[in-house]
Order: sequence, then C-alpha cells, then structure tokens
Amino acid sequence: MATQKAKSRVKELIELLEQYEYAYYVLSEPQVPDVEYDRCFLELESLEKKYPELTMSFSPTQRVGGKPVSSFGEVQHAVPMLSLANAFSDKEVMDFDRRCREHLRIKNIDYVVELKLDGLAVSLSYRDGVLLKAATRGDGTRGEDVTQNVRGIGSIPLRLRGSDWPSFVEIRGEIFMPLPGFMLLNQHQKAVGEKVYVNPRNAAAGSLRQLDSRITRSRPLEIFCYGVGAIEGGSMPDSHIEMLDALSNWGLRTNPETTLAKGPLDCLDKYLNFVEKRHDLDYEIDGLVYKVNSYSHQDALGSVSRAPRWALAHKFPAQEELTRVRNIEIQIGRTGAATPVARLDSVFVGGATVSNATLHNFEEIRRLDVRIGDTVVVRRAGDVIPEVIGVLLESRPKNSKRYHFPKKCPVCNSEIVKTDEGPLMRCSGGLICNAQITESIRHFASRKAMDIDGMGSKIIEQMVNVGLLKTVSDVYRLDFTTIAELDRSGKKSAENLMRAIEASRETTFSRFLYSLGIPQVGEKTAVELAEKFKSIDSLIDADSELLQAIPDIGPIVASNITHFFSEPHNQRIVKELLSAGIVWSEPAPIDSVSDMLEGKTIVVTGTLSSMNRAQAQKILASLGAEVSSTISKKTDMLIAGQNAGSKLNKALDLGVEILDEQEFYDLLTKAGVT
Ligand code: NAD
Repeated sequence: MATQKAKSRVKELIELLEQYEYAYYVLSEPQVPDVEYDRCFLELESLEKKYPELTMSFSPTQRVGGKPVSSFGEVQHAVPMLSLANAFSDKEVMDFDRRCREHLRIKNIDYVVELKLDGLAVSLSYRDGVLLKAATRGDGTRGEDVTQNVRGIGSIPLRLRGSDWPSFVEIRGEIFMPLPGFMLLNQHQKAVGEKVYVNPRNAAAGSLRQLDSRITRSRPLEIFCYGVGAIEGGSMPDSHIEMLDALSNWGLRTNPETTLAKGPLDCLDKYLNFVEKRHDLDYEIDGLVYKVNSYSHQDALGSVSRAPRWALAHKFPAQEELTRVRNIEIQIGRTGAATPVARLDSVFVGGATVSNATLHNFEEIRRLDVRIGDTVVVRRAGDVIPEVIGVLLESRPKNSKRYHFPKKCPVCNSEIVKTDEGPLMRCSGGLICNAQITESIRHFASRKAMDIDGMGSKIIEQMVNVGLLKTVSDVYRLDFTTIAELDRSGKKSAENLMRAIEASRETTFSRFLYSLGIPQVGEKTAVELAEKFKSIDSLIDADSELLQAIPDIGPIVASNITHFFSEPHNQRIVKELLSAGIVWSEPAPIDSVSDMLEGKTIVVTGTLSSMNRAQAQKILASLGAEVSSTISKKTDMLIAGQNAGSKLNKALDLGVEILDEQEFYDLLTKAGVT
C-alpha cells in the first residue's frame, strides 16, 4: 500500500513534470536543465514501480513526448515514433546487451552506433517519391503538421532520387541547428531585441514551429535521417545499416559518423572516442545511440510502451546543471578586462566540479537578470569556460540581491571604463593594477614574449604575493639569493632562472612590444609595429592616424596603443626595462613567415572562400606549423573563416591569437604561398 507521503510526492512530481514539459515541448523554452527533468522523471518512475496503483494514465511516464501545438494541424503517425531508453553508465550498456542476447538467445550482437543528435525528431512521408507530409513526434502517435516549414529546409529533398524507393515510406530523422548558425541567430536575436535561445535544440524546435514558414526558411536548420516508420509497396533490407545506405541513395542526408560495432565493448570504445570528439563537431550531440543491426532481431525484441527494446541512448554527462549564485565578483585579466564572475555552490557539470562561471559582461547580467542568491543554469561544454545561461525565476529568494557593476577596480581602485569593444569594461590601472601584475608578468615572460624559461605561473604568483614583483620591470631586479630562498626546488633552478632572465635581455623589438601586453597587440601586430617604427621613441610619439597607416591597425587598436603610451606609469616601466639593459638589434628582424609559424600549434575553423580547410591545413603544415583540430591552452593561433562557431568563442575565451581569412591570406602572401 502506498503511503500518504508517496501519494503526495507522485502528485507533486506529475505536476512539476507537466509544467516542465509544457515549457520544453510547447513553448520551446525549457525551465530547467534536462538533468533536473530526468531526475524528477526517474523518481516518479521508481515510485510508480514500487506502488503500481499510483500510476495515473496521464502520468508523464506513460507517454512518449510532448503534446502537439494547437496552431498546427495534427498528423497521425502510421508507426508510432518512440522515445529511446537511456543509459548513463557502462554497466547499463552491458546490461542492455545482456538482455538483448538473452532474449534472442545468441552470443554476439552487431550494433549500429549513431550519434544522438540534440534536435527534434520528425517524420517525413513520401508517396511515389514525393514529399507528402512532415510531422513532429508530438506524443508519439500524433504530431504537428510542419510540412510547410519543412519544405523550406534545403537538406530535405522534396523528391527522392533514384527509383527504387517504396511507393509510400515514413522516414525518421532529427532536425537540428548547427552551432555556427545557432550563434549567428542568437547574435541577431540579441541585436534586434528578440528572444535568445538557450541552446541549439531549443533554437531548432522554436524555428521549426514558426507559424510563418518564411521565418523557418531563414533559420539554419539541417537534418540527419536515421530510420524508417511505415513502408508500403517496397521491401525492407535485412539490416539497419543497409537501410541507412538506401536512405542515402534516395538523396536523404544520413550522418557520416555512423559505424558498426561488434558487441558492447566496441560500442563503449566509440563512446569514449566521442566524449572528446563531440567538441569538434559543428553540431551538438548528447550521446550515442546503439541499435541492434539485424531487422529480424529488432522485430524479435519488440518494444515496451515508450521505447524499442533494440535501441539504447548512451548519454554523455550533462553539460547543464542547476546551482546557486553565492556572489558576483569582478575578475581583472591581463589587459584589464573586467569580467563579472558568478561564485557558485560547487556543482558537477560537464565532467568537472564547477564553482565559478563567467557572466561575460554587464549587458549579459542585465539580459539574464541574474541576482545574488538566484538558482541558475550553468553550462560547461568541453574545456570552454563555464557560463551561466539562465535563471530559475520561480526559485528566486526574497532576499536576492541585484548586482551593480563597480565603477572602480576592486583591486587597484583605478576607474573602470567602458571600451569601444561592445559591452567590455576595463580597469584603466594598466601595469599598476595588482590583479593585472601576475597576468601581465606571466605574459611578459612567456615563450612568444621575453621567453624567460622557468618563470611559470606558480613562481610569479609567489613573487607577486610577497611583493617582490610589482611591475614587469621588477623581473630584472631579482637576484639569485632571493629566488633561491623562494623557490623550493632550490639552488639549481634559481641558477637556471637567473640565467634565463639574463638571456632575455637580448631580444627583438617586436618581442619587446608584444611583451608589454598592450590590448589587442598580438605577435603579428607587434611585428608590423616594429617594422614601421624603428625605435620605441618614434612609436611612443606616433598618433592614431600614423598608426592606422599600418594596414592591419584600425582605430580601436590604434587608440589602445596611444592610450597605453600616454599613461605615465607605462612610460616609466618602459624606461625602467630599457635601463635594465634590454636591447635588440635594429631594426627588429622581420621574422620570415615560416619562422613565425614554425612549431606553432594552429587550428583552422569555419569556411574559407578560396580553399577548403584541408588545403589550408596542408599549407600551414608545410610552413612548419603543427595543425590541430581542437582549441586548448596550447593553441597559438586560430584561423577563423566564415561561420566560425564554438572554436572561435573558445579561442576568444582563452586569449588565443585569431586571424581572419584576409589576415591569413596576407600571411600566406608574405610567405610567398599565394
Ligand atoms: P531522448 O531525447 O532521451 O531520446 C529520444 C530522441 O532522440 C528521439 O525522439 C530523437 O529525437 C532523438 N535522436 C537523436 N538521434 C537519434 C538517433 N540517431 N536515432 C534515434 N533517435 C535519435 O528522449 P525524448 O523522449 O525525445 O525526450 C525526453 C528527454 O527530453 C528527457 O530525457 C529530457 O532530457 C528532455 N526533456 C527536458 C525537459 C526540460 O524541462 N528540460 C522537459 C521535457 C523533456
């Protein structure tokens, strides 16, 4: 007998889930992250299992998906569109395989491994090869008629190719929005004050469900097909993999990453591979789907109410979680960029424990209306910096506090100024700001700047903490005894560090300029400045107009340079560095392009207009660069073509030097490649 407590919990969970589903399926505006929905769903499922008498016919566990939106017509699916059983652990995958083998009484099963695309399922009916109807999954038996909107999606053929298709066929697939398009759409939505979508899935669902099909057509939607429903006047092949081939021959888009796996261990191998590789894809996936390949085996296994027994969705760890904002603080970066950061109750998300998340800038705080004390959705995807993407307004406590962006730097008390770079704010303290010291010295000593081997973050932090380093010029006041006392690794490494500091005095003009950490003056700009201005004095004297005579320098960079040199403390530091004996041979040698690229880790992303990515990578490799496909702290440069997506954002977050297509071609021209 169910207890009163269980009864009221079931009621509560049903109401909660109904509310979440309405927001997710009907409004395309999820109220909570999927993990929160899943937690409630699992709890309800286990209560209903324990007390079957509490299972209501209207319980969310009893149906497949959301209810159809009333404004669209309804479509009856000839074969129901089921959901998928979920697995979150290896053990659940092994159990699934064991259950299938036992049911089929066979020793080994071949699976088709597909990516679990994070979009929305649709069914496309073709009669005599012509697109007749397109429907969303809806509640699994009836969906919304989205034919008009689907007709605008370029990758969905209005007519099938070839002639060996059945006279009637329902094709199942996932409509999704690739990441670059999603980012552009949100930028546009923000600019025109329209709704910003929290993730690509919701953007895809929202875009497909537009009442005006012209809007859908303007949205970057794509499809991958992964199955069939009803078939008339034609025969099914023997296996799922052959069916996918047939779909592809009929001109339907199937996912090129789909593979066959021999047994569950092979599936798990592929899963591990995609835990990393997913971040290189241009679209979001939330797991892999394992499907029994043989259709006769699928038939023998059949389905339970919500999902087939022959398929399993192996989900990745959640990338979005709920937590509470304890405080909001400003973090000052090397160039003084003042970034608001939410200090959070620690939460495990995207495979790591997160206790800080960026709020990007004051506009974002306003847009999200984040307040101290709020429950927020935190997102951590790959090694991208965790960010707050939403607020649970209904959980806002009465004593939540609005955040006011400070006017003064919390560390050095200099003014925080608005920049010309959109909503970015910057501490105007320059090299006297304590918070910037550690970062600026780390940059100063880095490989591409003064190249002081052994001067890593740890020792710099230690030195800044004890007041040994206040500006970059203090580096040249360090002596052996002080370092040896500080550095636990002792005499030997103190000797090495002293030697490295000594050696760094002899440098090039461009390295010296780069090491000063002037906002937006990267390696390449530093080389150009050194080329044009033969001495530091003439650069200090240069006005904005003269600086802009350099092709790659625009008004913003020019003003960063003049502003930097107009600050008396920056002038003093430059003087101190020069009197510390820093020298370079005049004029700074223009490193040949291959010198600039030699050994550099470079990533190419987006679309280039006159070559494909593989060609660009080949050229870079021939110039000595190491070409990589993922952005990390080790990346030296990103070449960003059109529609560059997540990699561009990640590079911006990590402060990686970014070249646009034109700059890349200029570089190649210099190298004599084009
Ligand atoms: P699901 O998303 O876990 O899996 C089934 C779906 O996977 C299919 O319908 C299809 O759309 C998709 N899919 C992607 N690639 C596929 C492939 N290769 N082969 C087959 N299918 C593929 O289940 P669901 O029933 O669609 O949705 C339930 C999930 O939705 C919940 O687990 C929850 O995470 C989320 N949800 C969230 C909220 C919320 O408030 N955040 C509310 C409702 C549902």
